[in-house]
Amino acid sequence: MTEIERHSYDVVVIGAGGAGLRAAIEARLQGKKTAIISKSLFGKAHTVMAEGGAAAAMGNANPNDNWMVHFRDTMRGGKFMNSWRMAELHAKEAPERIWELEHWGALFDRTKEGKISQRNFGGHEYPRLAHVGDRTGLELIRTTQQKIVALQQEDRAEHGDYEARLKVWAETTVTRLLKDGDRICGAFAYVRETGKFVVFEAPAVVLATGGIGKAFKVTSNSWEYTGDGHSLALLAGATLLNMEFVQFHPTGMVWPPSVKGILVTESVRGDRGVLKNSEGKRFMFDYVPEVFKNQYATTEEEGDRWYDDPDNNKRPPELLPRDEVARAINSEVKAGRGSPHGGVFLTVVDRMPGGAAEIVRRLPSMHHQFKELADVDITKEPMEVGPTCHYVMGGVEVDPDTGAAKVPGLFAAGEVSGGMHGSNRLGGNSLSDLLVFGRRAGMGASEYVDGLPARPGVPEAEVEAAVTEALAPFEREGGENPYAVHAELQQTMNDLVGIIRKEGELQQAIEALGKLRERVANVGVEPVAVNDGRGYHPGWHLSLDLRNMMLVSEAVAKAALERQESRGGHTRDDYPQMSAEWRKVNLVCGLAGDPSSPHVELKRQPMVPMREDLLQLFETDELKKYLTAEELPADVAAAG
Ligand code: FAD
Repeated sequence: MTEIERHSYDVVVIGAGGAGLRAAIEARLQGKKTAIISKSLFGKAHTVMAEGGAAAAMGNANPNDNWMVHFRDTMRGGKFMNSWRMAELHAKEAPERIWELEHWGALFDRTKEGKISQRNFGGHEYPRLAHVGDRTGLELIRTTQQKIVALQQEDRAEHGDYEARLKVWAETTVTRLLKDGDRICGAFAYVRETGKFVVFEAPAVVLATGGIGKAFKVTSNSWEYTGDGHSLALLAGATLLNMEFVQFHPTGMVWPPSVKGILVTESVRGDRGVLKNSEGKRFMFDYVPEVFKNQYATTEEEGDRWYDDPDNNKRPPELLPRDEVARAINSEVKAGRGSPHGGVFLTVVDRMPGGAAEIVRRLPSMHHQFKELADVDITKEPMEVGPTCHYVMGGVEVDPDTGAAKVPGLFAAGEVSGGMHGSNRLGGNSLSDLLVFGRRAGMGASEYVDGLPARPGVPEAEVEAAVTEALAPFEREGGENPYAVHAELQQTMNDLVGIIRKEGELQQAIEALGKLRERVANVGVEPVAVNDGRGYHPGWHLSLDLRNMMLVSEAVAKAALERQESRGGHTRDDYPQMSAEWRKVNLVCGLAGDPSSPHVELKRQPMVPMREDLLQLFETDELKKYLTAEELPADVAAAG
């Protein structure tokens, strides 16, 4: 008989990044007995890698900033595919969440007047990113962890037990959500170090598992990003929204090969860094698309003046939204004007008034990263950079206000959720998203629990099925090597579902994924010598993660084939234009077919029309670039 530990909570939060910790704090503040489950070590979630900052219209660096400007920028960045309600809540609530974080002990960089400093980032009209050097994510996690410890100390004073109402399960991976009928009743997990199984009984589960980057070969994402939350949601009967939108960050390291894909923060461009091709040309001036023509400088001189006098100059095109910059770099490399290792040059040399010392002060992590990993001194030499898979805009379809997914008892927040960022996320909007929607999901889950007439029970059959699935890789004698299958999956996604997509290649990808799916179902591992053969066993862990990467890859490829337009993080070579008709369509993925081997099924779902008062925040001419005639405000449509 397999030994299984059992624990009971009101709310289980899966993920200990910014979204998960903020959700857990909220659930605990609402009086709920809460568990935080994290497959990484506590304090090591992907969020710690976030460098540039958290976007919030506090108006510290430019008093003209406010939530309406932030909302407009976010919608433009997402090319109007965003859930406008999420973009509205985010723009309105982000400042409060940043001040709250400061109240909890975050040490943000300051302006000369002593306010929280805010820096420029692509697509943001004003300097808006609250930051801690280029280590903002680390400070966000440090602060929220500190808040959790403070709450645990309160619990100890009240109940004699630090973990009475808030417990962290680190290095514990959830492989299945459990259901009682149509509603969530818990989660099934294994402890990575021992391989022991744990059942968490809980009426509400918040997914905060981050992204999917490890399905691609070149990525800035950490090992945790295997699409677990996306897949857990699908398998539990929830839906994913617009999975075709995958952000390729324009600047990842391209050399040496062992570090290919590691992020070079956008702060480099926000702090005066410029992109050049092999001919020494600042090529971004050639790539300003029609929709952004009025907002970007046309000469290097104007672009450079903007850093000191943003009110009287237009911003340089290096600060266009990420999708535009990534495509431009891709085109330069394809045209033979790339750097020696297949990227372009990004340089801050001689660009900062304070010289080398200022570069090191403003970009300490980048200075360190290039020196250590590539033996490049960025105060003296340019960096070589190219696009890298960075962020997934698509994710669990949620109610904007509560984070509730389509399955009762399931909630999602942070990168795993969809809608907020439309077709392209603006830099800095994720960290604030984590705080705004983490809190909302924690509250949504708590209110859901309060409203339940009775707690659901965990059916034994659900647990048995989860155990059988988790142990299956040990049962397959002569099964395939999970590392080889993973490498092939990543190569397929990189080559055929990458930054530039075409119908034929997407069809090829779907066919290849179909074959890989059979191989994923046949990966096998040998037991190790300790803990029933399962004590810290990376091959087994990967075997289980592969199911998740397979499902999200299928979702991305199928949605990418379906959407016949180019928008944000989805570029179709064969449909290069944005289409106002397609903007009205959300692509929703669910699972269909045999439950033992389900496949992703797509549905088209109409986009909810934007509220009139929000539409009024835009110039008519701008709205006409994105919306169909019948979507325009009544007075505009009548005027023609
Ligand atoms: P994460 O922080 O990734 O947390 C996910 C958690 O879920 C982890 O604890 C993980 O262990 C856990 N988990 C996953 N699967 C399971 C499972 N099956 N069982 C149990 N636990 C599981 N955004 C910005 O706004 N500003 C920036 O400056 C910025 N810089 C970035 C720099 C880099 C290098 C990268 C890669 C991203 C950056 N981003 C930035 C994006 C941002 O960091 C992420 O989108 C964000 O941190 C995601 O947070 P999250 O809470 O959703 O997930």
